[in-house]
Amino acid sequence: MTQALLNTVGTTQLESALKGLRCKECGHEYPLKALHVCEDVCFGPLEVVYDYEVLRRTVTRESIAAGPNSIWRYRAFLPVETDNYIDVGTGMTPLVNAKRLARRLGLKKLYIKNDAVNMPTLSFKDRVVSVALSRARELGFTTVSCASTGNLANSTAAIAPTPVSTAVSSSPPTWSRARCSAPLFTPRR
Ligand SMILES: [Zn+2]
Repeated sequence: MTQALLNTVGTTQLESALKGLRCKECGHEYPLKALHVCEDVCFGPLEVVYDYEVLRRTVTRESIAAGPNSIWRYRAFLPVETDNYIDVGTGMTPLVNAKRLARRLGLKKLYIKNDAVNMPTLSFKDRVVSVALSRARELGFTTVSCASTGNLANSTAAIAPTPVSTAVSSSPPTWSRARCSAPLFTPRR
């Protein structure tokens, strides 16, 4: 993301519940920064550490319901620090009441989340990509890339705001021509 676009979008710093990063394998902690593995100890994956007292104090059912009609109504629980997120309508997919399957399994009620109608690419990957690219933009990155077998690349190409450039790598040799080309034809916003 160029600095110019960042400036035109503007940012609002909200009270953040983000405390830092913690390794899922060894528990080593890091400050919030552009880091995805435990570089000091074990190269394990990092997860976000939240301040649950801040969440308890600032988030209510009403505040969530008043949010946008997308995953960003849960913004307080997502790892971004400003309200300058990329909202392309991801999330809020329907729950389907699976009555016959519930009877077969001996359950009173069973609902299945239909994430095949997610926006913008009809993939559940739209969720993680919306969050990841919003955070990447906050951190000032101008280029994103991903290793993908299809839908992640598609989603990244669709959600990455111009002029962020997207590079797709590590596609397996078994990919069909259609899967390889799909990200190239995903409409850019
Ligand atoms: Zn570690």
